[in-house]
Amino acid sequence: MKHTFTILSMTLLIPALSACGDGPKSSTPWIVDRFDDIKVIRYEVPGFERLPLEQKELVYYLAQAAKCGRDILYDQNCAVNLPVRRMLETVYENYAGDRTTAEWKALEKYLKKVWFANGIHHHYSNDKFTPEFSQGYLLDVIETIPEEQFGDLNPLRETVFTAIFDPAKYPTRLNQKAGDDLLLTSSSNYYRGVTQTEAESFYAGMAAADAGNPEPVSYGLNSQLTKDDAGRLVERTWKVGGMYSAAIERIVYWLEKAESVAREPQKTNIAALISYYRSGDLKEFDRYNIGWVRDTVSNVDFVNGFIEDYGDPLGRKASWEAIVNFVDSAACHRTEVISSNAQWFEDHSPVDPRYRKEKVRGVSAKVITVAMLGGDCYPATPIGINLPNADWIRKEHGSKSVTIDNITYAYDQAAHGNGFNEEFVLRAEDRERMDKYGKLADDLHTDLHECLGHGSGQLAPGVKGGELRSYGSTLEEARADLFGLYYLGDPKLVELGLVPSSDVAKAGYAKYILNGLMTQLARIEPGKNVEESHMRNRKLIAEWCYERGAADKVIEWVKENGKTYVVVNDFEKLRALFGELLHEVQRIKSEGDYEAGRELVERYAVKVDPTLHEEVLARYSALGIEPYGGFVNPEYELVEQDGKVVDVKITYPADYVKQMLDYSKNYSWLPNVN
Ligand code: ZN
Repeated sequence: MKHTFTILSMTLLIPALSACGDGPKSSTPWIVDRFDDIKVIRYEVPGFERLPLEQKELVYYLAQAAKCGRDILYDQNCAVNLPVRRMLETVYENYAGDRTTAEWKALEKYLKKVWFANGIHHHYSNDKFTPEFSQGYLLDVIETIPEEQFGDLNPLRETVFTAIFDPAKYPTRLNQKAGDDLLLTSSSNYYRGVTQTEAESFYAGMAAADAGNPEPVSYGLNSQLTKDDAGRLVERTWKVGGMYSAAIERIVYWLEKAESVAREPQKTNIAALISYYRSGDLKEFDRYNIGWVRDTVSNVDFVNGFIEDYGDPLGRKASWEAIVNFVDSAACHRTEVISSNAQWFEDHSPVDPRYRKEKVRGVSAKVITVAMLGGDCYPATPIGINLPNADWIRKEHGSKSVTIDNITYAYDQAAHGNGFNEEFVLRAEDRERMDKYGKLADDLHTDLHECLGHGSGQLAPGVKGGELRSYGSTLEEARADLFGLYYLGDPKLVELGLVPSSDVAKAGYAKYILNGLMTQLARIEPGKNVEESHMRNRKLIAEWCYERGAADKVIEWVKENGKTYVVVNDFEKLRALFGELLHEVQRIKSEGDYEAGRELVERYAVKVDPTLHEEVLARYSALGIEPYGGFVNPEYELVEQDGKVVDVKITYPADYVKQMLDYSKNYSWLPNVN
């Protein structure tokens, strides 16, 4: 896949104390809201107050820009999302009737879910939400509210009702079932009225025209593909003056403010990003990315744009996202040590020497503090980032890798003492190791995955990188995860002083296998298979190792007191299996072996055992742990004196509903239909 998938999702890990940095301290509860399978957590931004004024101001402007693309993501996720959200918000803010009834509560929960998912489909499973209130109830509630409150939503009432209540309409945001027309059966808005065959041949034509270009353009990344009146395929580009212009103009407005306070080389980079937003020219986006990846000196950094292609069944079109962050200088040297040994790791990797990189370039890794999340990073958010995605830029100019410390810290705080280990981990020795080293193992695995895994390896001559198509993202995540798992158990980590003993790897391995074989099923609805690529990747690795190690009982299923457990008996052999699978997955990527890739994913990564699934869901719900988490953002305010900015104040709101309504009121510019 051209755009390497690079954002990690938080696995369900158990906390130890924050391994580095001075963790934020506050008495406000970490979990600010819970509904359905979701918990909303707040995060703090330690160190913000200590930033110099110009950096605080820069964070403020970039944070404003990060909030301005929210509507874009809603519309990308599904064309009816904006009217659905707005109609329900109008109801929520104006209904004067009884708010204590079960149906009202159900409506409120549905709206909270829509906000969390940026639309009517679950952010992780991609399935459409099922409302627990009736069509009649919503109609009754609407009729108590003056019609003018709904303004231009009135003509869209039927569209909205169909979207919410008709299960046959927009059933899934992202369908990846082999054999289906993936575009006609997916409800995302990246393609309109276009079949999969039409889209594939359209972009194959562009790629052919670009053949031999050492700097291939990421065609299709920033546009919707549709048809004009004459039935010809056309792209509607997301830029100033193009599709989503009203939101992009606001993003540009705040980026210009940011440019005015930034220093070189960041100033020039921001100007390049603005220029790209104006022109929509993807060559300019590449130029911007090169500047961005080369800038390793700016303390405040950010992502703002059309970045990840998880949401497109063809892995081409990118959702809008934003993150603002700064370097956590108090954090430990973990990633620096890993990065400065990048070549050693590459040279010793268990893959075919032909597919190792001779020279690993520009792996820059930092532990960062997030100051603002936006678009596809909000409220559900990654814990690590590795960008840019274009393979040739990564090869020629390297990539930037970050681990987000204040987010993992908040997750850990929120999960503390939730009973997960006691319920799912059979052996006391495993529980003890996880308690002691779980957080460190997870952090290290994330670092290795992001700093080294995605950047490792090379393609065989003539292989472009898009050959694995819809299996590309799962296999890319598997490659990075396996790289991380393999080295997590390497004595080199002890030698480098990164871990005290092999117990860290044992904690990480036991947890990974448990999650991949079993506990991640808590995130899947009954009757469904595994769809999301990070989850598929974990299942692929765990199932493959289970099967390959079965003769030696490397991994074993154990039944006790009517409950199912999974235990790792031989950590050394498991590590060897990780190495073997890494060898094969790298070969598949390097050679673009679609058939072998398809076989691996379809055989190990997709199908769910319904009996085990039911058991996991029951045990999970008995614990009362929501399997998904997301965040509310802090708020920033300029403090001015005599027309000059003298400080930026940060506050930590703890009201999810209020933040969502506020964003919808103050950061919303797109029309209902785009
Ligand atoms: Zn990744």
